[in-house]
Amino acid sequence: MRVRLQDPVDLDAFRREARQLLANGVPPDHVEWSDGTQGSGGAELFGDAPAGGLGLFSDEPAAPPAPAGAARQPVPASFLALCADVILHRDPGRLALMYRLLWRLAHEPSLRHDPLDADMLRAGLMAKAVRRDIHKMRAFVRFTRVEGEQGERHVAWFEPDHRIVEANAPFFSRRFAQMQWAILTPERCVAWDGQALTFRDGADRRERPPPDAGEQLWLTYYENIFNPARLKLAMMRREMPVRYWHNLPEAALIQPLADAAQARSQSMIDAPATPARRIRAPLPLHLLPADRAAPASLDELRAVTHACRDCPIGALATQAVCGEGPVGAQRMLVGEQPGDQEDLAGRPFVGPAGQLLDRAMAQLGRPRDTVYLANAVKHFKYELRGKRRIHKTAAQREAEACAHWLDSEIALVQPRALVALGATAARALLGRPVAVQAERGAWLHERADGRPVFVTLHPSALLRLPDAERAAAYDSWLADLYGAFESPLGDSGRIQPAAARVLVP
Ligand code: SF4
Repeated sequence: MRVRLQDPVDLDAFRREARQLLANGVPPDHVEWSDGTQGSGGAELFGDAPAGGLGLFSDEPAAPPAPAGAARQPVPASFLALCADVILHRDPGRLALMYRLLWRLAHEPSLRHDPLDADMLRAGLMAKAVRRDIHKMRAFVRFTRVEGEQGERHVAWFEPDHRIVEANAPFFSRRFAQMQWAILTPERCVAWDGQALTFRDGADRRERPPPDAGEQLWLTYYENIFNPARLKLAMMRREMPVRYWHNLPEAALIQPLADAAQARSQSMIDAPATPARRIRAPLPLHLLPADRAAPASLDELRAVTHACRDCPIGALATQAVCGEGPVGAQRMLVGEQPGDQEDLAGRPFVGPAGQLLDRAMAQLGRPRDTVYLANAVKHFKYELRGKRRIHKTAAQREAEACAHWLDSEIALVQPRALVALGATAARALLGRPVAVQAERGAWLHERADGRPVFVTLHPSALLRLPDAERAAAYDSWLADLYGAFESPLGDSGRIQPAAARVLVP
């Protein structure tokens, strides 16, 4: 029997053919499988034979009949899941292996309990390789913005090891639902227009888009967050295999950064501790309000928060850090609390997390100075470890003590909508615990003042991820931020009524 699948990843077609072969009692060594792709020798296994099902191309004597009832033996559900991965593997022998396993499961029920069977082990390794390739594609696809006649598109070039484009496409359509994008690969290409996925044949490497301004920003950012003291090249190569490097712009920086890592680490060890400095003097006391009435201006807010000791954090920090940005901004982005660098500079979002936020905002075409940036807690909470001040999350009672200052800031700035970066900010803005992963990417209409709140991750959460996961997490965070600048208002232009939860389309 010769059986050819027209589509090399069509699991349903394989199942139809395999089921029919099994029902007819055709043993595995009587079947030659082909998927219509070029074999390693360059010639297609069955030449010009038309595609079709069982028996069309049979040129063998009839196979011995199957034992009665063999074809009706059920196979475990896990076998179907295994086949769904294995069929994506590039090995031309995978179809024969899948059918052989099906035949054996039907005739040797004990096989499902034999974890050391050679066929099972081989299929398991193939499935594992496919899943790893899927994961790597999610982590290492890098989009470049391209302007065309139909507007802006994001295009990426990727070279998967296996035939995973169709299987992975729904992930990208969910993650980047708001963007129009295309992923080009040598064998298969996929595009998303905001409504539907379309597939076409593979692309040539020369169709790969040239670097854009975002790539240079990404490289600058990568250079700045590279921590020489935490460099583990072997682990980096394991998580980010070298074969992907030629498609990753940041790969060109790795070797020079690694070469300089030891000297940079030593200079960090030798450097004296950074003294905490009070760089902004407290305002004169006569500017402080005599009672606890809400401050009447942002300057007054700075003064009163600087002097505030409503919770223990105030005594630890260099200064209070209020927000900055235009009054009346369309969006107020609220983080957790100032970090080490913000505490010293007296400005929000100037440390590594702030630089990441700046980069994302620039990519979205929303420069930092168009939004108001603030924190839920106004003083920096930390613990000393040697010379370093390590960030500590504010306790709930501390965040609650600070909440009225954030309310005052919102009342003074009058933003149209609020964006909560992380759980502390979300809780401060919504007055309830928020599971960020579950509620991210949506406009929530729960505040008494009617301002909608959009929840997403704090940029520092991305910085804590392993290198291999960071790029994919960054892209999905970028998609969230894109949604945060979509209108949270109804067609009437009025803010929607409270207690409605509206998912960003
Ligand atoms: S963190 Fe907030 S409540 Fe605590 S002392 Fe500072 S300003 Fe006051």
